Amino acid sequence: MKVDVEELFADFVVIGSGPAGQKAAIQAAKLGKSVVVIERDAHPGGACLNSGTIPSKSLREAILDLTDFYKRSFYGQQPLERQVSINDLNYRLHKVLDEQRKILLKQFEKNGIRLIKGVARFEDRHQILVLDEESRILYQVKGEFFLIATGSKPRNPINVPFDDQKVLDSTRLLSIDYVPKTMIVLGGGIIGSEYASFFAALGTEVTVIDKKDHLLPLLDAEIGMHLQKALATIGLTFIGNKEPEVIVRVGNQVEVTFKDGEKLHTDTLLYALGRLANVDHLHIDNAGIALDKLGYIPVNALFQTPVSNIYAAGDVIGTPSLASTSMEQGRLAARHAFGAQTHHFPDFYPIGIYTIPEISSCGYTEDQLKALGFRYEVGRAYYYEIARNQIVGNDPGMFKILFHAETLEILGIHIIGRAATEVIHIGQVAMSFKARIDYFIDQVFNYPTYAEGYRIAALNGINKVKHKR
Ligand SMILES: Cc1cc2nc3c(=O)[nH]c(=O)nc-3n(C[C@H](O)[C@H](O)[C@H](O)COP(=O)(O)OP(=O)(O)OC[C@H]3O[C@@H](n4cnc5c(N)ncnc54)[C@H](O)[C@@H]3O)c2cc1C
Repeated sequence: MKVDVEELFADFVVIGSGPAGQKAAIQAAKLGKSVVVIERDAHPGGACLNSGTIPSKSLREAILDLTDFYKRSFYGQQPLERQVSINDLNYRLHKVLDEQRKILLKQFEKNGIRLIKGVARFEDRHQILVLDEESRILYQVKGEFFLIATGSKPRNPINVPFDDQKVLDSTRLLSIDYVPKTMIVLGGGIIGSEYASFFAALGTEVTVIDKKDHLLPLLDAEIGMHLQKALATIGLTFIGNKEPEVIVRVGNQVEVTFKDGEKLHTDTLLYALGRLANVDHLHIDNAGIALDKLGYIPVNALFQTPVSNIYAAGDVIGTPSLASTSMEQGRLAARHAFGAQTHHFPDFYPIGIYTIPEISSCGYTEDQLKALGFRYEVGRAYYYEIARNQIVGNDPGMFKILFHAETLEILGIHIIGRAATEVIHIGQVAMSFKARIDYFIDQVFNYPTYAEGYRIAALNGINKVKHKR
């Protein structure tokens, strides 16, 4: 069947409707530019909305509520009165996704952004074609500036027999129709650790296996130790220094043979060993762009590729690969393209890890400060010292503030425990104004709150410095 090709022109052509593409498109529209967003998936929103951030965090919240997780410290670890079904979890998940999708479409509409469905392919640096699933050309889109915001996908080796029920990646996990009794998670990075903790809280017997000797090596080591202890109390097992070799389906089970010869069996396998840039079908070489040696699109500090009218932002340019950072990269790219005032991407930004318990940090870790030769001191506050924590559930956790031992400037903040991903922003703001740790002592905080942890940690830290002086 012949399809009529529609010709379009836009000031800004955005490929991908995830956080980087959305915020870039809205920013360009606010600057009075005509914008076209091209998205190949049926639902706009990218991995963030459809298979990553929002679904995983919605599942987390559903599990915490439906298992009465935060009531356990008061009322004991009794077996749940009713089994949580996959339908209970999915009900909430889909409600959140529907709402978020509606909001996104409304924002595009309000800002006059045209969203077209199809796969984008560069013809040259000023032109792309948009194709349907059968590779028929639907649109020819010319533009002044382009943003590649095509995100990332799970790194799935071809010798792993992925399906939709047993051998899963983080996208496939969202389509299972049962709550697993046992689960092996291969990979102790952010995605693996988060899902492992959610299913452990749900009652699944979870084992995380990684070639490193501990989970989440990006964390401050002390916070990492707290995490591992907290995860053990919800029944999660971690095995380090172990690498998978062969993965096969055996009946209704999955069998993993490791390089050391050991074989383990599980109901469900989550394969979470990294992600790759989404550049298939893009033909960036037609635009004169080559991938870097890690397979990402190279950009300068302004998110411009070596071809000056083509920008790239989000997961497709590599780390940190977060929805939060992708949004800001996209917005800055659009501002720069159209000559609006811009700034460099912040040196310090928070990283939120939604394991149970959650973690958030901003700035240097203690090991980094040691390596850089800083004279630093540490202020700590434990969650058991915080009244708010006792009131709501007596969960484990800590605040750790690293600061310069002479100037008292805050150098790093690391929080593990309930509300960590929210309260981190207080520390982030203080750090962005180059505050000293005594700032937290001289201010009045609402009481009882988790934020009080900043004061307790600051007092603990300042007292250590005083004693040394
Ligand atoms: C399980 C999981 C949990 C996560 N949790 C968090 C979290 O808690 N916090 C956080 O900040 N981040 C989290 N992330 C990371 C976050 O989802 C990503 O960093 C973010 O989605 C990247 O945004 P993006 O705009 O670069 O790309 P994406 O969101 O991946 O969007 C890219 C879009 O481009 C489209 N596309 C690709 N190629 C083409 C083409 N040729 N033509 C047209 N369209 C195309 C894709 O279909 C997709 O819709 C998580 C990720 C996963 C997988």
